Amino acid sequence: MKQVGILTEEQNGRVKDSVLGVISYLRQKGVSVCAFAFPPAPGAFTQQLGHYGVDTIYEIILETDSLNNDPQVRVQALAQAMQASEVSFLFGLTSPTGRDLLPRLAAIYHAPLVMDCTKVDLDSKIATTSMYSGKTEAMIRAEGERLFFGMRPNHHRKTPSPETPEVVAFQPEVTEATGIQYQETEVLADRGADLTEAKVIISGGRGLKNGDNFQILFDLARELEAGVGASRVAVDEGWVPYTMQVGQTGVKVNPLVYIACGISGSVQHFAGMQSSGLIIAINKDPKAPIVAKSDYYLLGDLFEVIPRLTEKLKARSGRKEE
Ligand SMILES: Cc1cc2nc3c(=O)[nH]c(=O)nc-3n(C[C@H](O)[C@H](O)[C@H](O)COP(=O)(O)OP(=O)(O)OC[C@H]3O[C@@H](n4cnc5c(N)ncnc54)[C@H](O)[C@@H]3O)c2cc1C
Repeated sequence: MKQVGILTEEQNGRVKDSVLGVISYLRQKGVSVCAFAFPPAPGAFTQQLGHYGVDTIYEIILETDSLNNDPQVRVQALAQAMQASEVSFLFGLTSPTGRDLLPRLAAIYHAPLVMDCTKVDLDSKIATTSMYSGKTEAMIRAEGERLFFGMRPNHHRKTPSPETPEVVAFQPEVTEATGIQYQETEVLADRGADLTEAKVIISGGRGLKNGDNFQILFDLARELEAGVGASRVAVDEGWVPYTMQVGQTGVKVNPLVYIACGISGSVQHFAGMQSSGLIIAINKDPKAPIVAKSDYYLLGDLFEVIPRLTEKLKARSGRKEE
């Protein structure tokens, strides 16, 4: 059976759902999957990866945390682990980590890399990705002994397919460090679920009028266990950080439900969220492009609609005002 590799990513000590979704997608193709992981402790991901069908796990152990955070060190370790394995196709996510590591790895092997893939045919080696802000799909044939693919996060849903994985404790010989020194990690105030992983996203645009007003979106997000995104205007105005920007020059998201509040629906914004399962617009202008492009819309003032929605959800869940 053909074996392909997956570069895992973690969040809060668990493998990201988006990674498990890619594993499920690969398993459905009848291939065996080998995971390359940097676990916080040996065995930390074994049960989870086994549950979704991984049959070999290369646990890459680096000596110190500072080495673990150095992308140049990580790619050397990954390249050595790939060399030691049978894997010639490596999949990852088109995420900040994937964008950091996959091109470096592909460069080491002088191998082709296709990012933001929604599908990959392993026999013809054709990857499907989007181009021109999502206006067209490109089918790119990759050629070579080793191939690298960055998959669109959250595009494939995880499905259990239990296996008992073999775990290989892999200690790489790392020679070249970039000298990157991590000083500290700043944890930002809770902004709801991670946008690339979220099942529901509520985004705000110019209609929110200022940064403080985003609080009404955070309140609703808490009830829906949603992530909070933003249009570029909200970011350019300094109301919310760039990490929240959805669109052509921001993050590309694939939630089951996307709720756009006070966002007109520019092509650049759509480029980042058009593959959402269901699009709901809350806007006071019936002629706003988002209204025509949404599955459902609510015409009204978001400052009235959103707090009422939050209250209704709170009442339903029996949660009291804190
Ligand atoms: C190269 C390039 C890249 C870009 N990349 C991105 C990107 O990644 N992401 C992105 O979002 N944009 C991007 N843009 C910008 C994009 O073109 C638009 O300018 C931007 O998306 C508009 O943001 P908006 O919808 O919040 O604002 P607007 O277009 O001003 O829309 C505001 C909407 O709010 C509604 N509204 C106002 N008040 C209320 C209220 N009280 N209740 C309900 N509705 C209300 C209005 O009816 C209107 O529809 C890019 C532009 C360029 C040129």
